[in-house]
Amino acid sequence: MAEFVIRAFNDKTTSLTLSSRKLKKVPECVSMLPRLSVLQLNNNFISSLPAELLSLQHLLELNLGNNALEEVPAVLGHLESLKKLYLFSNRIRAVPHEVIGGLKKLVVLNLNHNHIQRLPAEIKCLTRLEHLSVLDNKLEEIPAEVCHLTCLSVLNLTSNNLTHLPQQLYQCKGLTKLHVARNKLTSLPEGIQTLPKLQVLDVAGNKLSMFPVGFHQLHLKELYFEDNRLVRCEPMSSVQDVQVFTLKELVARFVLREKRDRSSPVNRTLPLFPSLVTLLANSSCCAVCLSPFLTTWLQCVHFISLKKDMNMRSSQSIPVRALLCSYKCFNTDGHPYYGVASR
Ligand SMILES: [Zn+2]
Repeated sequence: MAEFVIRAFNDKTTSLTLSSRKLKKVPECVSMLPRLSVLQLNNNFISSLPAELLSLQHLLELNLGNNALEEVPAVLGHLESLKKLYLFSNRIRAVPHEVIGGLKKLVVLNLNHNHIQRLPAEIKCLTRLEHLSVLDNKLEEIPAEVCHLTCLSVLNLTSNNLTHLPQQLYQCKGLTKLHVARNKLTSLPEGIQTLPKLQVLDVAGNKLSMFPVGFHQLHLKELYFEDNRLVRCEPMSSVQDVQVFTLKELVARFVLREKRDRSSPVNRTLPLFPSLVTLLANSSCCAVCLSPFLTTWLQCVHFISLKKDMNMRSSQSIPVRALLCSYKCFNTDGHPYYGVASR
């Protein structure tokens, strides 16, 4: 072993490959190669890293895939130049926040095939992260702080136990590929239709009943959605009770309509009531009459042809969520929206 390291040392090489050598620990002499920029330690039996690795302050890429680590090692949090870190196929349960918080230059983080239940909020410190992969773990939720990662291009969360994704996911404006297949998602966050670069979306094997409002505005190239619980178009008659709106809803609708008129005094006085502004920020717009409303609405779907409406190859249709303000709008003729029956 020392022979390889010494040869590397003599050559003043910046790359060292010690893959598949049945190593149980990192050879001590590795820390004597401060110029090292790439270190491959994958396919060994390494269960911890020595503190001496701290000397590798020029290390850009570290591959520890397929080893016996049970935690993301503490010393990694001090390798501040690291750009690519591979930790796939270990036995990692814990991702300590102080370690993640130190990897500020990381571009690629691969944690696939481990036993991770949660990611720390400090993930937001990885402001240059472009590729985050946590495939085949035990994640039950994703911290909302992931949404601060505006450089994130590929997010792979396939095969976890996620029941929902953070609502602010639309803030990850750089996202091009989102893989969330084989989870327990019952819905996708509203607003993902505003992700300008999203091209690949894999939601197969979840519990989705429909896609979020405006979904067909995405410019997707690939969409995988088999094995979900999507609502089907099976017309049936229904009895509709006339709605009686609450006073709050009626006032909210009035204020929201006035707000659209620039000359209305509402626009001058509303900023004086910040809690009201926050409340009204949750309003939506009726898909039929385009009027605003606050909380009382009818959940409907319309069926979008992937070929005609989204320019994709598939000849399938998908149900996309639409919100209507009232039965009055629902009962008008000529719109494409169907009510959703619960069974
Ligand atoms: Zn309406």
